[in-house]
Amino acid sequence: MNNHSIWENDLHNQNQASKKKKLDLQTDILIIGGGITGITTAYFLKNSDQKVTLIDKGLIGMGVTCKTTAKLNYLQGIIYQELEKNFDQRTSKLYFDAQQEAIDLITKIIAKEKIECDLQQCDSFIFTKEKKGIPKIDKEKEILEGWDIKCGTVHQLPIHFPIEYGIVTKDTYTFHPLQYIQALKKIIQEKITIYEQVIALEITKEKDLFQIKTNQGVISSKYVIVACHYPFFLWPGFIPVKTYIKREYVNASKFQKNCSPFTAISIDSTLHSIRFYKDYIIYGSNQHRLTNQIDYQKNYQKSKNDFKRLFSKEPEYTWMNQDVMSNDKLPIVGVIDNNNHNLLVATAFGAWGMTNGTIAAKILADIVLEHPNRYIALFQPKRKNITSVVQSIIGVLHYSKVYLQTTIKKNPVFYNDHVYIIKINGNYYGVYYDYYGKKHIVHHKCPHMKCNLVFNDEEKTWDCPCHGSRFDIDGKVLEGPANYSISVNFQNE
Ligand SMILES: Cc1cc2nc3c(=O)[nH]c(=O)nc-3n(C[C@H](O)[C@H](O)[C@H](O)COP(=O)(O)OP(=O)(O)OC[C@H]3O[C@@H](n4cnc5c(N)ncnc54)[C@H](O)[C@@H]3O)c2cc1C
Repeated sequence: MNNHSIWENDLHNQNQASKKKKLDLQTDILIIGGGITGITTAYFLKNSDQKVTLIDKGLIGMGVTCKTTAKLNYLQGIIYQELEKNFDQRTSKLYFDAQQEAIDLITKIIAKEKIECDLQQCDSFIFTKEKKGIPKIDKEKEILEGWDIKCGTVHQLPIHFPIEYGIVTKDTYTFHPLQYIQALKKIIQEKITIYEQVIALEITKEKDLFQIKTNQGVISSKYVIVACHYPFFLWPGFIPVKTYIKREYVNASKFQKNCSPFTAISIDSTLHSIRFYKDYIIYGSNQHRLTNQIDYQKNYQKSKNDFKRLFSKEPEYTWMNQDVMSNDKLPIVGVIDNNNHNLLVATAFGAWGMTNGTIAAKILADIVLEHPNRYIALFQPKRKNITSVVQSIIGVLHYSKVYLQTTIKKNPVFYNDHVYIIKINGNYYGVYYDYYGKKHIVHHKCPHMKCNLVFNDEEKTWDCPCHGSRFDIDGKVLEGPANYSISVNFQNE
């Protein structure tokens, strides 16, 4: 069984970007993060007369984007009625237009650049397994039909998978996200310098230039585009109170189907997400708010069991992924600080970052190039509404609950004898004994906002149950928002 995504399996000879040792340079536009958002922003900026530089703390495309299910879809659960409720009909329609435009942008880029990334046009379903879900599906249908989108109604999916009711639409797609990103990387590298394994640590401003401190030196830039999934700084923006993290488990295996490929996603509190890739079925399930289920082992096991029960197959691939959700359900894209118009951010794609990351990239590029863009106001980070305020308070309660839970019970019952938390001179440390009996010790607090970490025995990582940062057994940052390691050097402690 593979513990990585199905896309990573197809990665051959990743072409290396520049690996300069000492990085003291000046640029016009610095993009931090080379996932779908950062790479696509670079693509839209590549022909500008600005000097553009992109850095990534790891390898391009290997963040959340390499673990996505990569559906290119405007049918996103019941988002349109939720946006009508949180905002109004106009906002909901504008979001729909943005999704359509993003799909159009991606498919046109793929055609223009002749990118081989298994782009497949297919039908997409949303469905419910519960009687109480029927009116919500009907409402979404009514909204979509009001925008001239034809929706068929169904009581079953094209494969054997019991549902109560659903709708189906056309003109949606699936693709291979890493092949797409790798191709974009190759195209932009002619014009844009990319540095991998360079981590942005801090951003300050001196006169008109931002100074970005990295692990390899300082970069000065007129513009900074923060496309690192979850911004590593608290101010400006204070993203942790405007967002929360959702985690989802994905399983894939070879599967014989007697129908054309399609995508399907449930609207119920229990998530079921289906797509196909070649002769594989990819199934996402067991989605939960990160703060709510910290027995990670149990979550993986449940998702694997669900897969076996539903498809009578052992999963060949099992992986986990997490995405940033905004409290009001709209992505957060644009100028984050009214005093610094050249500091831009893109986050909170609500598990729809293939489309939202692409439209975000277009918005960011248009802001920098001073081109008009009809979505700037829609996604602007400074927006306020009542749902957002209420959800922020609920979010703080969730963070407090998990903080208390992990403070009171430092060694939860699901830890086995090779993982435990110890206290030395008033500080807490996480200890993990590997397969060979070697001891690995790390700080037990996340450097981002000091939440207590929880061991993830499936992937052998220390995970932050508040904001999703992840570290390897020796403390190296695997996933942000944290950008400092939790390694221990007792000589300096
Ligand atoms: C289970 C799951 C399934 C999903 N399925 C879909 C789907 O079907 N369709 C869809 O549209 N969306 C889907 N999504 C959402 C989508 O995958 C994400 O929203 C999207 O990939 C986010 O892209 P990104 O570029 O913002 O982030 P990433 O891909 O994470 O890119 C950010 C990059 O920034 C780098 N970075 C981070 N911090 C720093 C730093 N301090 N310095 C330098 N570099 C840094 C990272 O290394 C990373 O490469 C799914 C999400 C999940 C969780």
